[in-house]
Amino acid sequence: SNTFLSLNYEPALEQLGEDYYDVVTAADFPEHRLRFRNDQLLPILGLSPQQVRDDDFIEAFGLFMGVRPFLALRYHGYQFGEYNPYLGDGRGFLYGQVRGVDGELYDLGTKGSGRTPYSRNADGRLTLKGGVREVLAAEALHQLGVRTSRCLSLIETGEALWRGDEPSPTRSSVMVRFSRSHLRFGTFERLHFLQRPDLIGRLLDHLIGVYYPEIPGDKLAEDRYALCYEALVRRTAELVAQWMAAGFCHGVLNTDNMSMTGESFDYGPYAFIPSYDPYFTAAYFDYGRRYCYGNQPGICHLNLEKLQVPLKLVVSREALEAGLGVFDEVYFRTYRRLMLGKLGFEEGMLPEEMGRELVSLTLQRLGETEMGYHGFFAELADQFDPRWREDWLKVFWRSSFPVEGWDSWRKLYYQALNELPEGEMAGVKGRLGDRNPKTALLRPVIERVWEAIAQDDNWEPFYGLLETLWAKG
Ligand code: AMP
Ligand code: MG
Ligand code: MG
Repeated sequence: SNTFLSLNYEPALEQLGEDYYDVVTAADFPEHRLRFRNDQLLPILGLSPQQVRDDDFIEAFGLFMGVRPFLALRYHGYQFGEYNPYLGDGRGFLYGQVRGVDGELYDLGTKGSGRTPYSRNADGRLTLKGGVREVLAAEALHQLGVRTSRCLSLIETGEALWRGDEPSPTRSSVMVRFSRSHLRFGTFERLHFLQRPDLIGRLLDHLIGVYYPEIPGDKLAEDRYALCYEALVRRTAELVAQWMAAGFCHGVLNTDNMSMTGESFDYGPYAFIPSYDPYFTAAYFDYGRRYCYGNQPGICHLNLEKLQVPLKLVVSREALEAGLGVFDEVYFRTYRRLMLGKLGFEEGMLPEEMGRELVSLTLQRLGETEMGYHGFFAELADQFDPRWREDWLKVFWRSSFPVEGWDSWRKLYYQALNELPEGEMAGVKGRLGDRNPKTALLRPVIERVWEAIAQDDNWEPFYGLLETLWAKG
């Protein structure tokens, strides 16, 4: 029997009623070839990899059809600043919500599973390359400590897709996303558009009950909603700090791609930055650089501010403004902590002023030299030597790294090391290695993996890259 059928499903969203979704079916596909199974996620579901057959992944939807409805979730959103009331799950659906052994509720959602009432004139499909890219992004981000959705499986489905900008036709796939909710800022924007405070309240009660258990249930509804908004502000500020430290540019931060649980998801034209450049823009169609790397904190703040419009139907403006007020402090504190971590230091190890200076000097040097962002930190991890604390001239002394112009940085790093007890040098080395993997998921790396698949149907480079990412190699 199929191992996925035996899981502990809780149809939390389905039970909220049909105002939030449409019941849909999956398309029929000519082929089902399992190209990726994420065995790392199975223990969260209480399964061991040995227990689960490849066919279990493939059969899962078929078995669920009829057992439980597939839900295309309804939402609107601001896309590049323009309100779009014609969104919604256009090529995917929620096919199960399952309780993990960690006590959290997870969504199993498809992408590329066929047309829905929200497909408009599009085909409801996901390109295989799009699926491969999302699998890689999620695993790389997860290893870098970013709170992200992940992919449970990727199935190639044997259709030829005609897309403008790729070698045409290109191959098709269905991806199964494993995430902590698919509720978006845009889910609430739609309910405001419909002027339904009742549906907003009901959905917030669900959101808080399942994803914000820290909020006490005995408070007045309005107070709980205000606390939920503030908690979301905190989570979103932490998330964007995680992206920034990871050197990640999401690319399309429309409000329909912003999660109400503060989790990162939906990886389309994303990119890891090659060098530290705040203007780096991932989506070729983002002409105004609205979602460029350095704009991400500001855009997340703006999206949170826009979310106040629907929430104002059930919470006071004053409470929402106070909630948003915590964003900057949480963002800057988290970002500094993560950057100091990449430099080998734990919170509180350096005097505050020195910590700030070290982060800002690092970014300034990286920006000016166009040295690879990921390469710099990997080099630091690789070259680090406890003797660096003996003399600033020893910092990077045996490195291939061009140290001209880095003297002020080398002096400061030497001083920072001397703030720590000598016995802490092994800790620095350990943190450097842990936070700065050698392999970054830069675009040429993804393209090489994709070319082997596209030209020779050779999946080994893809599996090899995943192994490397998992090993933080
Ligand atoms: P995105 O920019 O990927 O977040 O997608 C924006 C909206 O377009 C979402 O509502 C998607 O469901 C929909 N969409 C994107 N690609 C397709 C497609 N190939 N077929 C149907 N709907 C799509
Ligand atoms: Mg999306
Ligand atoms: Mg997308």
